Amino acid sequence: MPNALVIDDSRAMRMLIGDALRGIGYSVDEAENGSAAIFRLDDGVSRDVALVDWNMPVMNGLDFIRTVRSDSRFRHMRLLVITSETEAGQVMNALAAGADEYLMKPFSRETLISKLEMLGLQGLSSGTA
Ligand SMILES: [Mg+2]
Repeated sequence: MPNALVIDDSRAMRMLIGDALRGIGYSVDEAENGSAAIFRLDDGVSRDVALVDWNMPVMNGLDFIRTVRSDSRFRHMRLLVITSETEAGQVMNALAAGADEYLMKPFSRETLISKLEMLGLQGLSSGTA
């Protein structure tokens, strides 16, 4: 079963993304900011992908990405950054810091799934097998 960590300070957004992922067969953990996510990742469970909100208190998406990309334990974990339209200018910074892909809010379930497939992760087509 593919494994995802959803990191967002909005509980509603975590639920939305989590439900979409569970719907295509993912096991999902959640964290409310980058710092809580780092703590979560210390449990030794390997995650296929982290979906990372850009704007969060305590530790934002950029600092989370930099931290994860400087730690070889997480080199196989894909990082999908989620920005709002007003943060669109940050996409280049996210990719430069080591994000693999990005998604702009608001997004459809189909767009989320196609981004996962772009990363070589399980999407709808492979999820129901
Ligand atoms: Mg946020």
